[in-house]
Amino acid sequence: MISFEKSKAVSQSQYLTKTVADNMMRPVSRHFDENEGEIPWDYIEFMHGALKSMGSASLVPDQEKKKKDEKEKRPSQAYVVMAHQIEMLSWGDAGFYLCTPRGGLGSAAVEAAGTPEQKEKFLSILNGDKPVFTAMAITEADAGSDNSAIRATAVLDEDTNEWVLNGEKIFVTAGHKAMVDTEGYTVVWASLDLEAGRAGIRSFVVPAGTPGAKITNKEIKLGIRSSDTVTLVLENARVPNDHILGSPEIEKSTKGFKGAMQTFNVTRPLVASSALGVARAALEETKRLLKEQGVELRMGLPRVKMTSIESDIVDMERMLRSCWLLTIKAVWMSDARQANAKESAMSKLYAGDVVTKITQKAVEILGPLGYSREYLIEKWMRDAKINDIYEGTGQINRLIAARALLGYRGKDLR
Ligand SMILES: Cc1cc2nc3c(=O)[nH]c(=O)nc-3n(C[C@H](O)[C@H](O)[C@H](O)COP(=O)(O)OP(=O)(O)OC[C@H]3O[C@@H](n4cnc5c(N)ncnc54)[C@H](O)[C@@H]3O)c2cc1C
Repeated sequence: MISFEKSKAVSQSQYLTKTVADNMMRPVSRHFDENEGEIPWDYIEFMHGALKSMGSASLVPDQEKKKKDEKEKRPSQAYVVMAHQIEMLSWGDAGFYLCTPRGGLGSAAVEAAGTPEQKEKFLSILNGDKPVFTAMAITEADAGSDNSAIRATAVLDEDTNEWVLNGEKIFVTAGHKAMVDTEGYTVVWASLDLEAGRAGIRSFVVPAGTPGAKITNKEIKLGIRSSDTVTLVLENARVPNDHILGSPEIEKSTKGFKGAMQTFNVTRPLVASSALGVARAALEETKRLLKEQGVELRMGLPRVKMTSIESDIVDMERMLRSCWLLTIKAVWMSDARQANAKESAMSKLYAGDVVTKITQKAVEILGPLGYSREYLIEKWMRDAKINDIYEGTGQINRLIAARALLGYRGKDLR
């Protein structure tokens, strides 16, 4: 059953992440926004040590704890805890949150689609002495929303028992940190058979240092500027046979592809959590600055008696809180291993809207103060939009939710 009481694990991790956000993020947030490409190593080193010492409170579900919970028939809380951590870290700075080691989309993909042996092998790398990043590379120049258009290929070389990968992946978040700055890996989506469409697509773990895998471009972005986004080129990049996540069989169905897509059911509500951290930061700062300017906000009045600003603030609170409930339901379902494709898509699409609307409204209400670089409000408005783009745009997540609600299959509603 869903409980609205915060567990000890949630409260403890919120305490840590709030301290980090207050002391390691907010004071340098503007600096890293204005110096895109600079890496916040102090934050990265600190978080690596802190998460390591907290064990189960790392940003990727702790395998031993999960096994213990399963054995004792206790529901895992890993994703609920992560959602709270991510919300708080993104309240501090969403770009910094994307620079958190030990987690990332790559390890989420291993967690969602890997075999128990693969989880053991690829997730234990995160627990080493040095920080490690992981990334996931799906998008190509002609394959964004439509993954079936992926043209990167993977061919098994039976003589060496290795997969040979070729293709070019763009917009890979944390790709530089995963492949160059640390000894991490990128999970690359490629096709075993271009004729087979989605049924042929699988994901492969490509470790840093793999010959033939190189970063060729770093994007200059609107927001989340402390996070790197890169192009990854694969030219006959070879990885061992067991680096394919899940089954190598090409089945007539899209079962294998769906396995890879499971990653998104887990990660979309976590993107929503990040979006809501930014939205909360903007809302709280708006209220603080209004108070500083001598504007009193009277809550609890009938709408007709409110000022337009008071009415706007009520709407912002309503959007924020309702979206958080939707998000928590989606992560709770991840922990309970319930099918949550619909809830996951709904939380992500709604959070993308909410953070965009709240941050824009904050700039609007505050006028020159909102627009000025003296405060972080304008930065949060720039940081917001990505939540409506990556891991399925708002339109794509609307399609997924609509299909689930109306009982249509992909080919009937697109
Ligand atoms: C900063 C950043 C970081 C990113 N990180 C990663 C990453 O780590 N890994 C990764 O693989 N990718 C990443 N991406 C890529 C991102 O996931 C894609 O940009 C996104 O999926 C959209 O794909 P596209 O850009 O090709 O747009 P398109 O698919 O070409 O879409 C263009 C527009 O058309 C709309 N559209 C498309 N199809 C439909 C439809 N059927 N119905 C209605 N509207 C539709 C879309 O919603 C969008 O508005 C990142 C992107 C950015 C900007």
